[in-house]
Amino acid sequence: MTEWECVLEQMREQTSRESYKNWLEPVRALGLDAGGCLRLAVPNKDAKSWLEAEYISSILAISAQLKLSFHSVTVSVDSRLQEPRTQDTFTFDDPGQRFSEKYTFDRFVVGSCNEFAHAAARAVADNPANVYNPLYLYGGVGMGKTHLMQAVGSRVSVTSPQTKIIYVSAEEFMNDMVNSIRYDRMRTFHERFRTADILLVDDIQTLGTRERTQEEFFHTFNTLHNNGKQIVISSDSAPSAVKGLVERLKSRFSWGLIADIQPPDLETKMAILSHKAAEAGAELPSNVLNFMATHFNSNIRELEGALTRLMAIASISGTGITTAIARQSLKAALAENERTATIANIQQIVASHYQLRTTQLRERSNVVPRQVAMYLCRKLTSASLPEIGRAFGGKHHTTVLHAISKIANKRQGNESLDTQINKLTERFN
Ligand code: ADP
Ligand code: MG
Repeated sequence: MTEWECVLEQMREQTSRESYKNWLEPVRALGLDAGGCLRLAVPNKDAKSWLEAEYISSILAISAQLKLSFHSVTVSVDSRLQEPRTQDTFTFDDPGQRFSEKYTFDRFVVGSCNEFAHAAARAVADNPANVYNPLYLYGGVGMGKTHLMQAVGSRVSVTSPQTKIIYVSAEEFMNDMVNSIRYDRMRTFHERFRTADILLVDDIQTLGTRERTQEEFFHTFNTLHNNGKQIVISSDSAPSAVKGLVERLKSRFSWGLIADIQPPDLETKMAILSHKAAEAGAELPSNVLNFMATHFNSNIRELEGALTRLMAIASISGTGITTAIARQSLKAALAENERTATIANIQQIVASHYQLRTTQLRERSNVVPRQVAMYLCRKLTSASLPEIGRAFGGKHHTTVLHAISKIANKRQGNESLDTQINKLTERFN
């Protein structure tokens, strides 16, 4: 196996299948020069800058890890590597927009948790590029960000059908760009996005660490903003808190209005439930409403799912909607919720395994339970070390790291600990 093949093998594990196929497979290794520099060739200059921005550092890390002989990389362009272009392998989505009629302002229930974001979105829809530009909406999963963005698009497409509205997730933006680079269609890509009157980009946090995509988005943003076009962005957190987002985007996102959506309070949850039930032609007795709203957490998508299940069970059993039915329909969902590996769930399960209360995991004397819990958080969730540290009473991330490596080592020589950890892990499958 050549050194490059070794690298490819590792990269295949580290990257998505699509990225691997698009970016790494077409690369040709030309050879190694005397100075320890690996020379690579790619089909075009965009592929070159993509490779340089996204992959060189991983390639070098692999080289160091596997003790390969190169410690730098140069990339050249060789157009002979260009694949014959096939039109039908890649087309953009039809820009004639798709707005779900489910996601309109009429169907959005306003409560204190979301009234600011709602009012801002409404104002933008009524007066694009004249009030808040960009409008930046942020909030947790299932809080209604996509609903509001689509509502803006949907409304403008009715009031002003000539307006060119583009709604994409940041991930689609990236994929379109990646494919455009690959098939040498950047011009079309630019044309598509830079001629929009309204650009709605959902879940911008997925661009974190994608430098090349961020750069492209930055130019798109500038062009549109300079031309007085409306931009609406959604994210899971405030601009300053989006991990991996470059400063210049953060600062631009703060030019207009930033509006957050908070988790719904009890009243809003009840209002949403009764609104959705009414849409489905049902009416929920107030005790059931109350039960559902109190027992279900704040993710509105899950709340909707629970309601659908509730109505299905009620209609099958023919008993009408009662609290007993509600309890039954929630049981499955709640059990499922408990099994998802979140820091909170892990803490709970580890604590009860050691017959402690969750808060006791923070106590000095409970070192091992705490370390086990930290270890599992790292293994089973995508939480970062600082996040884990915070969840354990503000421990420093190096403490977390120490705990993790401690347990990782200990379980090797300690069968009973190893079994315990396996058992605990199984609880989350
Ligand atoms: P996000 O994009 O923030 O993750 P979504 O916009 O996809 O969340 O919302 C999840 C579900 O909850 C959608 O079906 C949406 O219609 C519904 N939803 C969210 N907020 C509200 C609301 N205030 N009123 C009515 N439905 C809502
Ligand atoms: Mg969404």
